[in-house]
Amino acid sequence: MAGRVVFIGAGPGSADLITLRGARLLGDADVVLHDALTDPALREFAPRARWIHVGKRGFSDSTGQDLINAMLVKHAAEVALVVRLKGGDPSIFGRLEEELDAMARAGIECEVVPGVTAAIAAAAATQRPLTRRGDGRSVSFTTAMTRTGDMHASRTADTEVFYMAGKQLCALSRRLIEAGWPSDTPVSVVSRAGWPDQLHSDHNVATLPRASLLHAGRPTIVTVGAGARPLEACQEPAKRNASDAAVTCEPCPKP
Ligand code: SAH
Repeated sequence: MAGRVVFIGAGPGSADLITLRGARLLGDADVVLHDALTDPALREFAPRARWIHVGKRGFSDSTGQDLINAMLVKHAAEVALVVRLKGGDPSIFGRLEEELDAMARAGIECEVVPGVTAAIAAAAATQRPLTRRGDGRSVSFTTAMTRTGDMHASRTADTEVFYMAGKQLCALSRRLIEAGWPSDTPVSVVSRAGWPDQLHSDHNVATLPRASLLHAGRPTIVTVGAGARPLEACQEPAKRNASDAAVTCEPCPKP
């Protein structure tokens, strides 16, 4: 078996957020198996490849995953380079373990190229650093969805970033309070981070349900805690002195 499989993180969507290494490897690909969340403009990086959509949203059943694994093995047997293109970073909620396992079992050589995960894209979009000096010393990437479809929230880090929670912000708000987050803890919600039509809104743990309508039907990241706090310069305009007045508050949300 001569072919190899490269797992590439496509970034949060917009084609220009893929890494240079990812884009170059795409250019060599014979076959690309890709997810749903990626920008069609990525195809320009791999014009001669055969593109196969294997995307799924939320938890796919094991049949779906087995089928993807089998397709990777099949194509790797037929061509030199198979790219498995995944949204964001392949290592974050991307079922990479199952696919790497299947490749190892089949004796197929693999490589993983990192990508910009949605949490990082959301932090960049809002200019809210995920770590803060003093009170933001740890960051956790969490999925709020359990296998049974229930919501789960925790308080394990100073900044907690929730994936796959957009459809259940009311339940998440409740669970966050149960997990011990004070109800006035800042929460930043960003949907389609990294795209020209990204949306951002600010809430606290108690008012988070109000974000539901604005972000409905869009991939959404919910950041809770220190990393959700607006910049000081944007928080208290009344306190700004003359030199602070030069600070632009473009990224701050309109109330
Ligand atoms: N591997 C991906 C995550 C896949 S799970 C990554 O590293 O980003 C899918 C979840 O990611 C979505 O439910 C949503 O919570 C989040 N997501 C993906 N793209 C996003 C984007 N552009 N903006 C906001 N959230 C996004």
